[in-house]
Amino acid sequence: MNLNDKLAKNHYQPENTAHIVVAGNAQQSALKILLNACPAGLYRMNEAGEITFDPNGCLECGTCRIVCCDEAFSLWRYPAAGCGVTFRFG
Ligand code: SF4
Repeated sequence: MNLNDKLAKNHYQPENTAHIVVAGNAQQSALKILLNACPAGLYRMNEAGEITFDPNGCLECGTCRIVCCDEAFSLWRYPAAGCGVTFRFG
């Protein structure tokens, strides 16, 4: 079973509001490292070369916060109780 197969077994309950928000003034160059660092692949580059982010599917690992520090985010918290990821394999 590969990583994507394992990730597909997780259950994710979204919140009404995002639990991680990238700051408007975050440096794109700093965010580019997250293209490969986020294990869920939630940071993506669009056709304009800008980094986009969708918090749905977050594994709550904290890697992005450690790699980019808090300045890159206007909000970073764990999802509310009952929301977020539920691991079902490994
Ligand atoms: Fe990705 Fe982990 Fe950050 Fe969630 S906490 S967005 S899974 S790096």
